[in-house]
Amino acid sequence: MKHIAAVVLAAGASRRFGQPKQLLDWDGKSLVAHITDVALSADLSPVIVVLGHRAGEISQSVTTALPAQARRGPVRLAVNWGWEQGLSSSMKAGLAAVPADADAVIFVQGDQPLITTDLLRALCSRFAETGAGIVYPAVAGEPRPPVLFARRFFPELAALTGDQGGRAIISDHLDQASAIELDVLDTVADVDTPADYERLLARAADARGRPRGPGSLADLTHVRHLIVDMDGVLWHSNTPLPGLHGLFSFLREEGLGFMLATNNSSMMPQQYSDKLARFGVDIPPERVLTSAQATAAYLSGVSPLGTRVYAIGRDGIRSALEDKGFVLTEEQAEYVVVGWDRELTWKKLCTAALLIHGGARFVGTNPDNSYPTEEGPAPGNGAQLAALEATTGIAPTIVGKPEPWLYAEAMRRMGASPETTATVGDRLETDIAGGKRVGLTTILVLSGIATRRDLTHAAISPDLVFEDSRDLVRVWREQLRRHGQEQSSRHAV
Ligand SMILES: [Mg+2]
Repeated sequence: MKHIAAVVLAAGASRRFGQPKQLLDWDGKSLVAHITDVALSADLSPVIVVLGHRAGEISQSVTTALPAQARRGPVRLAVNWGWEQGLSSSMKAGLAAVPADADAVIFVQGDQPLITTDLLRALCSRFAETGAGIVYPAVAGEPRPPVLFARRFFPELAALTGDQGGRAIISDHLDQASAIELDVLDTVADVDTPADYERLLARAADARGRPRGPGSLADLTHVRHLIVDMDGVLWHSNTPLPGLHGLFSFLREEGLGFMLATNNSSMMPQQYSDKLARFGVDIPPERVLTSAQATAAYLSGVSPLGTRVYAIGRDGIRSALEDKGFVLTEEQAEYVVVGWDRELTWKKLCTAALLIHGGARFVGTNPDNSYPTEEGPAPGNGAQLAALEATTGIAPTIVGKPEPWLYAEAMRRMGASPETTATVGDRLETDIAGGKRVGLTTILVLSGIATRRDLTHAAISPDLVFEDSRDLVRVWREQLRRHGQEQSSRHAV
């Protein structure tokens, strides 16, 4: 995989606008914090934010949004003291902070609120696939930011002066450049005037209010594998949801592969299999993947048999680690693995913190801050991780959703690839955000945590939205039926 950094250019004085555009409200955050988020969600690393004019205030607007952002990846702030010398000086300040092992950098303008992670990802994949030294979005053939430059262009970028941007470099090297033609022009529109700001805000609200749902459906006919979240999709704690039986009969009838995947690390696959049996569905434990198993699989890929691990958590994580040949211990552990533990004690936290402090790697099975109970939200694994992070100053490596590892392990077990895999879940920030990161078709059901109201506010939009799994099966079946008819009429001709 290519290592690509982002430089967010946010040093200018917004003279035409009359106030710092960087601080405009976007979705409850500053515009620059929003754009930083978009870059992080595209897995660009690090995301370097270049500040200049009113750097103090603007950096604060980024750092207040930072705890959430930093979980997604590293953010660095770079101050361009010479910002008044023009755009090139900010590009240079950003470039100076790009790590030596980065293959390329994407320069993102701090005032293009509608740029998407999909667009940034498209630039990255084009670079990875073609090796083009410059990749840019184009509107009617004209290059627009954000532009990706491969490392070999860094010297030329560093030689720019005044208000020059990368445009001249693009025209000098068209033979090494690759354009991605856009059909939605507003994607790269910038906020130049207050009227632009109003228009783009309305555009964003409009796009969020109409997620692709029934009416303009993403196609499911290419999907051959499904990763299914359980709580909120198949059941609510001990009550099966309507559609549970129908979903599995549909998957079996159509010969579709599936894995049940959960961020919960406290139970073992057999326990899920037993639960489903109580609801009248026969699913072998091999079809169940927990974040505990994904964590064990992930660690066994990076460390030898017999590695010493200190684990916080219940049977789910302990047995998953032992099955993979790890030695569970409280002493001289190389890893501290933390899963949800209803019998958590100060002593356990203390042991973990001291090991991490002594150099053990800190791994969390899943980042869920809370766990829904009938009385309200109770502390989840994320809360345990936060306690250790507060103590040690070290952030954990997370394995569960929205990180890619659980999806990767599910696909490995099914022999599936992202192009033909969909994921269905009830949480935007884990199920859907994670699915998007891995490049899956994402399906949200409203039978659990997320509501239609959340969708209008969220920056994450699923490919498809259904009331519940019944609704999903109805539409999927119908799409397959029509697809089948089209195929056979095509053959008849
Ligand atoms: Mg769920």
